[in-house]
Amino acid sequence: MNVDLVVVGSGFFGLTVAERCATELGSRVLVLERRDHIGGNAYTENEPETGIEIHRYGAHLFHTSNEQVWEYANRFTRFTGYRHHVYTTFKGRVYPLPINLGTICEYFGRAFTPDEARALIAEQAAEIPAGREPRDLEEKAVSLIGRPLYEAFIRGYTAKQWQTDPRDLPAEIITRLPVRYTFDNRYFNDVHEGLPVDGYTAWLERMADHPNIEVRLDTDFFDMRDGLVGRVPVVYTGPLDRYFDFAEGELGWRTLDFETEVVPTGDFQGTPVMNYADEDVPYTRVHEFRHFHPERHYPDDRTVIMREFSRAADRGDEPYYPINTARDRERLLRYREMARREDGVLFGGRLGTYQYLDMHMAIASALSAVANRLRPHFEQGERLTSGGVDR
Ligand code: FAD
Ligand code: UDP
Repeated sequence: MNVDLVVVGSGFFGLTVAERCATELGSRVLVLERRDHIGGNAYTENEPETGIEIHRYGAHLFHTSNEQVWEYANRFTRFTGYRHHVYTTFKGRVYPLPINLGTICEYFGRAFTPDEARALIAEQAAEIPAGREPRDLEEKAVSLIGRPLYEAFIRGYTAKQWQTDPRDLPAEIITRLPVRYTFDNRYFNDVHEGLPVDGYTAWLERMADHPNIEVRLDTDFFDMRDGLVGRVPVVYTGPLDRYFDFAEGELGWRTLDFETEVVPTGDFQGTPVMNYADEDVPYTRVHEFRHFHPERHYPDDRTVIMREFSRAADRGDEPYYPINTARDRERLLRYREMARREDGVLFGGRLGTYQYLDMHMAIASALSAVANRLRPHFEQGERLTSGGVDR
């Protein structure tokens, strides 16, 4: 095979590696992609009836504070000024997220100053003794926002999202849920945020548009691995356990089911994302894609919505979020050891490292893999292995 590098998977990790190796190192890169399109889970397409850009694998919002990643992304796309905001519906009323002074005033039905709100929440969180580490998600959330807000906005939503009692979930899941004693309800804290002006797929296609890069769609690496591994360096971004034929057992993932619907109104919910906190509403949230791009001209009599349902993944499902139970972590350690010994193969990306990575993290991790692994391999003849990367 007349190539210098094979990249398995055309998501942000795989395409960043391919683009950098082709452009910077002059490598000839073959990208293998099992699906019939490039881009991994960030792929978007226009819904045929309305022309509205929809995110097939779940809504993707780009945000980063990493200047190197921001500069790199801007080589392939311009970004809109979009700022993400999320609202939640609980018992027929709407509240702003993340939990902030507006949520607190609205929920308790009166005006609070920041100091008053802090004092109230401290009182409502007092059941978790200060100084003791919260033992599970419920304790952690109650310690951050008090019991009433926890029961309204977190308990039902989390139970739907994880199908597990919050008392059996690790505290870390909720750590990234900020609580603000101001009326600021921006969802992300990052310096840079925006959506690609002409869509994710155009951005991803530009990354792959290089004479040294060939992308082969509808091609599963496992149908040709024997002719590749050991003969040509491989960057593998598919599931880690699948690479080793599940020798140590399966790593647990959650998957999502999406129900997309064209609705005969110009505006279904007035905002891009509405969460549903009540446990008896079966979906966790509803996305309305037109609101991601208020600057575009979309039909004013139809809109596209997508309801999101969450459940544990079986082997045939799309793996979306690592569950990361204690058993998963033990298995992961053994798989990582096997990955380290796999000469000539670099494991990367969300599936290849069994880590939840935002897009900017996948890009950052790929840039560092190129600088620290692939460049030394191609220029100094160093062995290509996964030892130390992303650990
Ligand atoms: P992926 O995008 O998963 O790409 C891996 C590719 O490898 C896939 O195309 C797959 O088909 C291919 N592949 C796997 N096995 C094989 C094989 N055997 N042969 C050939 N090809 C194979 N990030 C954000 O920054 N903001 C967000 O708002 C956001 N929202 C998200 C919402 C959801 C529901 C999910 C699941 C993720 C979200 N992300 C978000 C994360 C984002 O999707 C990832 O950061 C990004 O996809 C990581 O890229 P990747 O290349 O590691 O993996
Ligand atoms: N969460 C919640 N209620 C909400 C939003 C989030 O309880 O309205 C909790 C839930 O446990 C979830 C976690 O916060 O798993 C992280 O939420 P986020 O929206 O960041 O998750 P993602 O978009 O990655 O699914």
